[in-house]
Amino acid sequence: MVTTPPAPPLHPVYVIGGGPGGLAVAAALRARGVRAVVLEKSDAVGASWRAHYDRLRLHTTRRLSALPGLKMPRSFGRWVARADVVRYLETYAEKHELEVVTGVEVHRIERSGADWVLHATGGRLLTGRAVVVATGYNHTPHLPEWPGLHEYGERLTHARAYRAPGPYEGKDVLVVGVGNTGAEIAADLAGGGAARVRLAVRTVPHIVRRTTLGWPAQRSGILVRRLPVFLVDRMGALLARFAAPDLSAYGLPRPDKGLATRQREGAIPVQDVGLIDAVRAGKVEIVAAVEGFEDGEVVLADGSRIAPDAVIAATGYRRALEPLLGHLDVLDGRGLPVAHGARSPREAPGLYFTGFTNPISGMFRELAMDAERIARRIARSRGTARRNGRELV
Ligand SMILES: Cc1cc2nc3c(=O)[nH]c(=O)nc-3n(C[C@H](O)[C@H](O)[C@H](O)COP(=O)(O)OP(=O)(O)OC[C@H]3O[C@@H](n4cnc5c(N)ncnc54)[C@H](O)[C@@H]3O)c2cc1C
Repeated sequence: MVTTPPAPPLHPVYVIGGGPGGLAVAAALRARGVRAVVLEKSDAVGASWRAHYDRLRLHTTRRLSALPGLKMPRSFGRWVARADVVRYLETYAEKHELEVVTGVEVHRIERSGADWVLHATGGRLLTGRAVVVATGYNHTPHLPEWPGLHEYGERLTHARAYRAPGPYEGKDVLVVGVGNTGAEIAADLAGGGAARVRLAVRTVPHIVRRTTLGWPAQRSGILVRRLPVFLVDRMGALLARFAAPDLSAYGLPRPDKGLATRQREGAIPVQDVGLIDAVRAGKVEIVAAVEGFEDGEVVLADGSRIAPDAVIAATGYRRALEPLLGHLDVLDGRGLPVAHGARSPREAPGLYFTGFTNPISGMFRELAMDAERIARRIARSRGTARRNGRELV
């Protein structure tokens, strides 16, 4: 009788990052019988959400933010608080019995034949046929190369360090950048006892209400997602007239570029959670963009100089994927992966990316959908591999 030798055991799939993106992929893989090991550099899952500012809530709805295989409880309400997001991610990992190894940072991914070798904390070398990179869109705080920045000193912090308005009570604060984070921090400070709040704006954002007559902005984002850019630009401009007041008199005119065009360039609209009211009440003053720092003052693009007590730079994040995999030729000119979701870069089969887009339909929703797609693809490849008595993923 001819006996077929047993197939060698399959390596686990390594998922780098224990945020919502990585956990969702691991759960979707487990549901398909594929062993996934999540490597998380911090000491717990959901590190980003543990570090966000206190008053943050999801601006996407509870229902449309659930990850595969676990609803968010109704008790969290429609707009889920930051602490509840953390609780949800902890429960998520527990319920799905995910293998999460904390305190392990992956420094570099290298090809070794058909395998991937991960270089990780403590000199670990971990081998897998499939690796999912879920290290986050908002990985490393970014500060522009402002002249005089280094001499300006500790009065300037990045928004990542901001937690609550308490330390700024009675102070004159300049917030730089009017993305969702800058807008919300400015409103938080204005309502939280800062003596004066100014918001430096380089590019005027699209500001949308979180809901209009009970209809969440996220649902509109989902509906228009596949429509042509010019059409969404037009619809956005029309809707804005009804849904958001004109703030030109306060220094925030309507943007000249359309909503979808801006989104393509990487700027999603600002969901209003207090900025509009604060600006109209004069509690947040709009000023020109920051050009640099000189003699302890902030130099603005209109030539004026101001001397706030503190500056909070809400100037975004970098993906910072270069040290990890810049040598693999899988990043584009903006440092983003050339393939996303269930597709691997052509030159890098078995390497998957999740969480490196910034859709107006909501990132949690996107992470959930990509998790299913990636897991389906990996499970299918492994099924084929098992049938052929070899690993393939
Ligand atoms: C202020 C803010 C509010 C947001 N609000 C919403 C919202 O309302 N709705 C929505 O849908 N989206 C929102 N997003 C966008 C997005 O959903 C979140 O950023 C989400 O946390 C992204 O999940 P992620 O798993 O891709 O990345 P992250 O949550 O950033 O997780 C990445 C994980 O990887 C770990 N890690 C990084 N590098 C390594 C490494 N080399 N080795 C090991 N571990 C590593 C990190 O410690 C982290 O735990 C928001 C983002 C921000 C910044």
